[in-house]
Amino acid sequence: MKNVATNEQSVKIIQSWPNSEAAFRRAQKSLGGGVSTGLRAGAQPHPIFFERGHGSKLWDVDGNEYIDYVLGWGPNILGHGNPRLVDAVSEQIQRGATYGSGHRFEYEAAEWLLKAYPQLDRVLWSNTGTEADLTALRLARATTGRQHFVRFRGHYHGWSDQMIVGYRPRTGVADTRGQQDDVDDYVHLVPWGDVGALSDVLSRRDDIAAVFLEPILVNSGVIAPPPGFLAAVRELCDRHGVILIFDEVITGFRIALGGAVERFGVVPDLVVLAKAIAGGVTLSAIVGRAALIDQVTTGTTHAGTYNGNPLSLAAACATIAELAVPGTFDQLEAAGARLATGLREALRRAGVVGAVNQIGPIVQCGLGVTEICTFEDYLGADVDLYNQLLVELLRRGVFTLPGGRWYLSTEHSDEDIDRTLDAFDAALGAVRP
Ligand code: PMP
Repeated sequence: MKNVATNEQSVKIIQSWPNSEAAFRRAQKSLGGGVSTGLRAGAQPHPIFFERGHGSKLWDVDGNEYIDYVLGWGPNILGHGNPRLVDAVSEQIQRGATYGSGHRFEYEAAEWLLKAYPQLDRVLWSNTGTEADLTALRLARATTGRQHFVRFRGHYHGWSDQMIVGYRPRTGVADTRGQQDDVDDYVHLVPWGDVGALSDVLSRRDDIAAVFLEPILVNSGVIAPPPGFLAAVRELCDRHGVILIFDEVITGFRIALGGAVERFGVVPDLVVLAKAIAGGVTLSAIVGRAALIDQVTTGTTHAGTYNGNPLSLAAACATIAELAVPGTFDQLEAAGARLATGLREALRRAGVVGAVNQIGPIVQCGLGVTEICTFEDYLGADVDLYNQLLVELLRRGVFTLPGGRWYLSTEHSDEDIDRTLDAFDAALGAVRP
């Protein structure tokens, strides 16, 4: 191939992506920014356009093969083209994409979720994590009659005006242009892991409806909660009559069938799920106590044309059935550990300062820092150097996320990971400061 060169170890190195580049130029004329979500606009050297995926691999429009650690930004927990998922979706589309009325997958998929979260009673279906987080906030406000909420710095709960507050430090007056200008009146920010700060807010105020958190701070460093922290939050919420909401959009059905609730044994009032639950098809859910969820029949609006559509829920049933096969989460954990250990060793060998966190099949790599234990550590990592590394990985057939997070699927084999680590070694060599 013309655009592929060979280095001394005869590893193929992609020099350019002419067809992707042309596709991007064409897309820029019709799509806002040439991409479908703003985060992708900054992809270096430009967004890659893909043609197909299979198992742990992706193929782009220039004919290059990649080991995929992006997994659609998380949903493709079964990799690409899982036969059970393909059959379920193919069969359902022939029977109708959506009915706007009841069907068996609505309750069958809900039963799966309640089996995974046996302490909770009811499920609501929605489409994206952003929507489901907004629904959770509305349910908490309806229950408590209070308007304000607490969230932790660096956590992500979707892109809505109020939920985006605190995700990243502000560079201007708002988190995004066009944001409603009174959001700060309602949102109270607390550092992750700080029981005293949370206790202080909840003791000072009687208008807090909810506390939102990612039980593992995945979106800013894959940082586990400090020991006892989740239990302390639960206790404070109980003491102050506040609804506790775990945003398990990433951790749910990824680190265990019952997500972080199963792993840490602390039960919130509401759990928000998305991404892995439908294996790549659009779906989110709110799981919770009956008293909270059943408010949807007593004047608390929960709406959406596509809510509970049979295509998404057939996909969810197939995906969860696959994930429920004994040993699946041990395999995902082992794959995550193999990758994380290998990345740490490669950094050490190359003499590059870096830190690697791993929980189940989620890995975070940060350069220029010796540990990532706080949001500040995460913000302190060398983004420019990592972005160079990301391009060098891409050139060597490894597709990863910006910011240093890696997702693994049930399809990532030891051989995939070992090949990835070879590419990582070489990529580090290419960017070494
Ligand atoms: N919560 C968390 C923890 C997330 O990671 C995300 C998406 N990355 C969301 C909510 C929002 O989900 P969506 O992109 O489906 O709106």
